[in-house]
Amino acid sequence: MDSMIVAPHSGMPGTQLEMNFMETKVVERTLSIIKPDATRRNLTGKINSKFEEAGLRIVAQKRIRMSAEQAGTFYEVHKERPFYAELVEFMVSGPVVVQVLEGENAIAKNREVMGATNPEEADPGTIRKEFAVSLTENSVHGSDATDTAEKEISFFFAALEIVV
Ligand code: ATP
Ligand code: MG
Repeated sequence: MDSMIVAPHSGMPGTQLEMNFMETKVVERTLSIIKPDATRRNLTGKINSKFEEAGLRIVAQKRIRMSAEQAGTFYEVHKERPFYAELVEFMVSGPVVVQVLEGENAIAKNREVMGATNPEEADPGTIRKEFAVSLTENSVHGSDATDTAEKEISFFFAALEIVV
């Protein structure tokens, strides 16, 4: 994954240095999925606008129909959860748009733009508040950490498909 660290100024007193470290900016990539409830309602463009308005760049994107095997593997971490079967069934119920988003702190920023998992708890202006149907049919997926982002991006995309 590309990542850029903006070096803090050198030769400053300790407190200044600490402050600059706090402002360190990291360019990250995250995997996003526009889920079947959203593609069904033709919301891809509106959701993409939210990403772009937040400073996230769509550096790869494709519309696919996931197989049950793919969806099952993708959500393997939730295998023991009671909602696993329902989640897999939902994810194969229609096309999804898988995408790589790039930007400063993209993983956290994307989760901010998405809003809380449960749309009833999502902040105003977030994708899930505006578009989600329910806790399961919540319009978008976003990676939750750098290691899962890397794993999830390579699950769907070859390096050559990601174009900055
Ligand atoms: P995502 O992984 O899709 O970005 P998330 O990280 O906010 O969402 P997770 O806890 O990873 O949430 O759950 C994955 C997905 O499983 C949720 O987005 C939602 O579609 C579904 N889900 C989560 N919890 C429940 C639940 N209690 N009942 C039904 N579906 C659920
Ligand atoms: Mg998750």
